[in-house]
Amino acid sequence: MDLASLLDRLTALRQQALPAVEKADDPDELDAVEAAYLGRNGELRKLLANIGQLSGEDRPKVDAAANPIREELEAAIAARRARLDSIALDVRLAREKVDVTLPGRALPRGALHPIAETSREIARIFGQFGFVTYDAPEVETDELNFQLLNIPADHPARDLWDSLYVAGTDRRWVLRTHTSPGQMRVMQAHKPPIRSLTPGRCYRYEAVDASHGFEFFQVEGLMVDEGTTMAHLRGLLDEFAHAMFGAGTRTRFRPGYYPFTEPSVAFDISCTICGGVGCPACKRTGWLTILGAGMVHPVVLRNGGIDPETYQGFALGMGIDRITMLRHGIPDIRAFLEDDMRFLERFA
Ligand SMILES: [Zn+2]
Repeated sequence: MDLASLLDRLTALRQQALPAVEKADDPDELDAVEAAYLGRNGELRKLLANIGQLSGEDRPKVDAAANPIREELEAAIAARRARLDSIALDVRLAREKVDVTLPGRALPRGALHPIAETSREIARIFGQFGFVTYDAPEVETDELNFQLLNIPADHPARDLWDSLYVAGTDRRWVLRTHTSPGQMRVMQAHKPPIRSLTPGRCYRYEAVDASHGFEFFQVEGLMVDEGTTMAHLRGLLDEFAHAMFGAGTRTRFRPGYYPFTEPSVAFDISCTICGGVGCPACKRTGWLTILGAGMVHPVVLRNGGIDPETYQGFALGMGIDRITMLRHGIPDIRAFLEDDMRFLERFA
């Protein structure tokens, strides 16, 4: 290759390379163009490799022609790179622009779980009659959960298959099977007059179905005072039923049995679905049982440190799950603990 054709090809290279630089639309493409023309295996070096075929006096002429072209290309690439960076910045700024005139995004708002809401409503209604809410432990001693409540050793609730005992404690510790140990704790800690509520979780070894859970919620009510009678219990429960389920709700006592109350009753309300006519929900009786209650057994009062000759009291135990299901028409108790947002959002 002679000097003239080498210089011609240098000029041609410049004319090819400059438009290629301008056409590069992103940094990667520009890098590729730079490598193709100015890189170690690029066009310019390949061309200059022919310089060895030239005479000694021609070689500087090639350098004199090639150096400005290299510099011009380097400058063009740097300028193009700066331009691409500024375009990228413009695009990013446009995308990230905050439009202060847009309405704010609504924050998702939590709500009380329906069990917690019902529990508070129960506490609110009983609170109007002077009942104070206490916490009690979910892990109880066998003594408080059973013995002091006059529950004999052969009572079905004490069966290994009904109760969840804490492993390694020789059945001395149990997950409370009801909230009734709460009333014993209140009696042991307070002197009459007592008006207390102890709500919370209870546990039983249950086969789970639409109306039974192995984990469920109860609230225990206790009133102890001089001259407390079944009439006080009946009046209180009527007021509760009317406040919770409506003024037209009818109520009735039926005989019941609990080891820790004597006499014991089941408390029914007229069916919230059919109004008492009879439907599948009330097994066509027109009545729904919502709680068990009775006069506190003298033995239980004594176990609580209270003299049954001076004081009488009533106790009641109510399933918060059941009350919540009746209030909201929820057919399946399992919905409460499944954490399904579609269910929970209905109460938001
Ligand atoms: Zn009914």
